[in-house]
Amino acid sequence: MSDFFDLRNESLNENDNELDQKLRPVKFEDFKGQKKIVENLRVFVKAANMRDEALDHVLLHGPPGLGKTTLSNIIANELGVGIKITSGPVLDKPGDLAGLLTNLEERDVLFIDEIHRLSPIVEEYLYSAMEDFRIDIMLDKGPSARSIQIELNTFTLVGATTRSGLLTAPLRARFGINAHLEYYDTEVLTGIVKRSAKILDVEIEDRAAKEIASRSRGTPRIVNALLRRVRDFAQVKGDGRINMDITLHSLEALNIDKYGLDEMDNRILLTIIDKFKGGPVGINTISTAVGEDSGTLEEVYEPFLIKEGFIKRTPRGREVTELAYKHLGRIKYGDSPTLF
Ligand code: ADP
Repeated sequence: MSDFFDLRNESLNENDNELDQKLRPVKFEDFKGQKKIVENLRVFVKAANMRDEALDHVLLHGPPGLGKTTLSNIIANELGVGIKITSGPVLDKPGDLAGLLTNLEERDVLFIDEIHRLSPIVEEYLYSAMEDFRIDIMLDKGPSARSIQIELNTFTLVGATTRSGLLTAPLRARFGINAHLEYYDTEVLTGIVKRSAKILDVEIEDRAAKEIASRSRGTPRIVNALLRRVRDFAQVKGDGRINMDITLHSLEALNIDKYGLDEMDNRILLTIIDKFKGGPVGINTISTAVGEDSGTLEEVYEPFLIKEGFIKRTPRGREVTELAYKHLGRIKYGDSPTLF
């Protein structure tokens, strides 16, 4: 993938941000895929609504762009309550958390993105809030310090994380509902492309929708970003409609490879092939070689590469497959090229 265009970490400009809001499903009905999770959540939300109680706390984990933020908004919407949104790194003082918690109305949702990045002191604060809907606030400092207890409205904490492995056991234990989001298959992603195209009011051929879906790394965020860029090409280079020709032209121009792998995916595969003869090689060694944290490799990058059959996990470490050699045009170590 080109340096100037990284769809996964794409920083959205204002216009794209607005479009992103438009494309975000607001009801369970519009949220495609993740069937089991959605089915279960529907039941839990309905039961909470019938009892007029707050929904149990929900932990959503999985790689970026798979719909964690979207789902938490849908949960609040289907509960008919408000939502406050924050993230682990932003909440660095207990006072920030206290401010948010005391402003929640009965049954509201508090969404904390990147919850694995909460500071330990804030996390500790959260325990009593989650369990007993109560917090202790310290007044003053030093010898005159005293704490007062504040009762909170009952609320639902929805925590999202790409790195569930970093969550502490006590925090994890406080979530009654725990859901792991998986990469989407091409069929579901094709449905998302078509839905988004409809909202954007752009005509798209079935084949083109499928092509965009299959190049999107199993990720709805990437599917939508790619669709917006192909729409630009269709408008400038074509007649505004998205057909197969314009799609292939755009994908080529954007440097999106056949399997939708991004720069980091390819770097991981090339490192294993070129530096470690295709493996097996340990995750920590790969991590040092590519300059990425080993946990992130394991939880964010590797699952997709394994799912698509580029990497195998063996007892002795990670090994790339034939498919990886073929895809990257490399020759397997030990296989001499046939000379005629
Ligand atoms: P995450 O919080 O997991 O990083 P988001 O919830 O921000 O992911 O999703 C990224 C974008 O992908 C959203 O703007 C939304 O439009 C789209 N999206 C995610 N999941 C779905 C889905 N299941 N169906 C349709 N669109 C989705």
